[in-house]
Amino acid sequence: MQAVLNDLLPSQNMFYAIKVEGTFAYIKTRSVQKQTEPYPPLVEVTSAQTVFEFNDVEGTLVGFWCPEYSDGINLPGYHLHFISDDFTMGGHLLECSMKAGTILIDTTTEYHMLLPENEHFAQTNFNSVPEEDKQKAEK
Ligand SMILES: [Zn+2]
Repeated sequence: MQAVLNDLLPSQNMFYAIKVEGTFAYIKTRSVQKQTEPYPPLVEVTSAQTVFEFNDVEGTLVGFWCPEYSDGINLPGYHLHFISDDFTMGGHLLECSMKAGTILIDTTTEYHMLLPENEHFAQTNFNSVPEEDKQKAEK
C-alpha cells in the first residue's frame, strides 16, 4: 500500500488526506483501551493494544500523509485507520493487502493547530518522549 501511495503523491513535502475504498485480501489493525487521567505515555498504552486481523473484507481506509518536517507535531509518514463497510471491524492500520479499490488523495496546503489552554498542557515536557518510543507506538 505504501509503495502504491508513494507513487501517487505529487510531492512528499505536502500534507495529504487519503481515502481508500476497496476490497482487502488482508487487513491488520490495532486498537487500545479507553484511557483515563493521568494519561500514560502512548508507548505504554500501545504495549497493551489489541491486534485484529481480517481477511477478504470490504471497507475504507482514511488518514493522512504528514511530511518529514512535521516531525514533533505529527509522526511523519502515513497514518491510516480502517473501517469495514458493515462497521463491525476496524482500527489503526498496521498492515494490509488490497485486491481492488479506489484511492482518493487530497492535497492539503493549510495546517491549523489549536493548543489546549490549561495548566497540564503548559507544564508537560514534550522533550521526554524518546524517538524509539514514538516509532514503536505508531508503527
Ligand atoms: Zn491511529
